[in-house]
Amino acid sequence: MHDDVKPVVVISKCLEHDACRWNGLMINSITIRRMKPHVDFIPVCPEVEIGLGVPRKPIRIVKQQNENRLIQSETGKDISRIMHEFIDVFLARLPAIDGFLLKERSPSCGYRDVKIYPPGQKVSPITTKGSGFFGLTAAERFPNKALETEGRLNNFRLREHFLTRLFTLARFRKITHTKAIRDLIEFHAAHKYLLMAYNQTQLKRLGSLVANHDKKPLQLVISEYGKELIKALSTAPSFKGHINVLLHAFGYFSPRLTAQEKAFFLETLESYRSNRQPLSTCTTLLYSWIVRFSNKYLRTQTYFSPYPHDLTEITDSGKGRNH
Ligand code: SF4
Repeated sequence: MHDDVKPVVVISKCLEHDACRWNGLMINSITIRRMKPHVDFIPVCPEVEIGLGVPRKPIRIVKQQNENRLIQSETGKDISRIMHEFIDVFLARLPAIDGFLLKERSPSCGYRDVKIYPPGQKVSPITTKGSGFFGLTAAERFPNKALETEGRLNNFRLREHFLTRLFTLARFRKITHTKAIRDLIEFHAAHKYLLMAYNQTQLKRLGSLVANHDKKPLQLVISEYGKELIKALSTAPSFKGHINVLLHAFGYFSPRLTAQEKAFFLETLESYRSNRQPLSTCTTLLYSWIVRFSNKYLRTQTYFSPYPHDLTEITDSGKGRNH
């Protein structure tokens, strides 16, 4: 399912790629290290690209007359214009991509929680928080791509959601230039359970687009499908969404299971519902029955492995985990 798809991701270069931070350091991330064999990363360090060098004096965002400016605090040098110019050219020249993985809280790369200072003093209290220059423009120009910051990948739920979106969007990108509706039908069929977990309303909408009762041209159908797919994947699935899918899949096997096996599955489901077991406990159990009963249909469902297995980690920052 994943061997033939490698998402293309723009990544802040200081994340596992180069010691290019202002202080000459690199950020280590086990998740990003594990992603390397499965993802085509496009590393970029906007601050180095505009000639600031390594190491360099730190920069920060300063709000001046209602406008965010990028300022080197020690020298007072305003590098906003040169940064904007670099970002415009870089983003315009990108090949087809599936997402962004950015350094959090950076005045250049950060997307959220970036400190914004009032004008004037070198040492001053933060006025507010917002996005960095590169992070903001990337999100505005590529609203339909998976975008995440590295710190949030420590949260199990956010990491799983990001990886699922990323690999699903990459699989979809592979068929966007197809000449055969069959490819779209197969994509939709393979993602049925995944979409059911994410958003049932969108699943129906996507199903009716694939049915194409209005006989629209294929490229139009694919373009509309892409927009609705992104909406479907915009919010991580709820417990309820997952439990619905797990029970659906269980329905395939329950007539052939012993009373003890059924009871064990329902207990495991209850443990997941009450946050005592990860989702993977339920999906692994179901997958063992997919193999045992040679269920070809469920075996094709991306729900059971939306991204490569060796990216599955159950470690969590403990912040906000809810499945
Ligand atoms: S956060 Fe962005 S600009 Fe800063 S060092 Fe990393 S890649 Fe370079």
